[in-house]
Amino acid sequence: MATAWVARDKETEDLGMTPARATVTRFAPSPTGLLHLGHAYAALFAWRAACVEGGRFLLRIEDIDRTRCRPEFETAIIDDLTWLGLGWDGPVRRQSEHMDDYRGAIGQLDSMGMLYPCFCTRADIQSEVARAITAPHGPEGPLYPGTCRYLSAAERAARIAEGRSYALRLDIEKASAQAGRLSWLDRARGEQIAWPERLGDVVLARKEVPASYHLAVTLDDHLQGVTLVTRGEDLFAATDVHRLLQALLGLGTPAYHHHPVRTDESGRRLAKRDRAATLAAQREAGRSAAEVRALAGFPD
Ligand code: GLU
Repeated sequence: MATAWVARDKETEDLGMTPARATVTRFAPSPTGLLHLGHAYAALFAWRAACVEGGRFLLRIEDIDRTRCRPEFETAIIDDLTWLGLGWDGPVRRQSEHMDDYRGAIGQLDSMGMLYPCFCTRADIQSEVARAITAPHGPEGPLYPGTCRYLSAAERAARIAEGRSYALRLDIEKASAQAGRLSWLDRARGEQIAWPERLGDVVLARKEVPASYHLAVTLDDHLQGVTLVTRGEDLFAATDVHRLLQALLGLGTPAYHHHPVRTDESGRRLAKRDRAATLAAQREAGRSAAEVRALAGFPD
């Protein structure tokens, strides 16, 4: 484990105790492509936060999307992180190995009446949004127009009996009303009042898997004992939904630190397809790990 910057808690060390709530951070990439300098920044950010606070750094592979995730990308992630000089505590958690955890949480939310089946295809949603005179938009584009929210129980049962596939969406108005006013702490921007409605009725279980990003990430951070979630600012609004899920499922709330997302010279967000920015390309170009750490924003 790379713990060069560990700063121990003097008092607890003297008493031979571990700190009551040691910081636990994580890096949670999806194996859908090669890691680039933006991922290196995110991984180093989380790793350093754990190191300076004498805590633990975990690695989680977010691979619920079996159509886009590939084992060779997971191998490349492990190789790249190791080459960068990062070590993690404990075994790697692979989301695909924990579907029962997600099923359990979905069952809990369903029994609370917070979910409804959505039979829409992507094309259905697009045409519904195009037809609407005013389609509400959130930070990630048009919100789900609510087509399936008002289906009768009989209609839902009939469609399910026909064998139509469906996702499960969170009824965000109902869930927010049940949870009441919620807040969370961002270490960079201070206390945030949650406003999950701005993301609309998000999907919590996809048609092919009993989970979605929002559900799996919230549950995993809890199950892994993560105390500080560090991730890019692009996921800032998603945290409101995660806070709501924590309240509904009776989970604790970690602290958050959303950091800037790395961009290229033209200000565009780095993407996995930008081959030149990948760690593999940096390595092939003969750069050392120390040079790449510095390029990613963490000079030694
Ligand atoms: N798996 C997500 C990604 O690769 C990160 C999830 C998170 O940090 O909450 O963007």
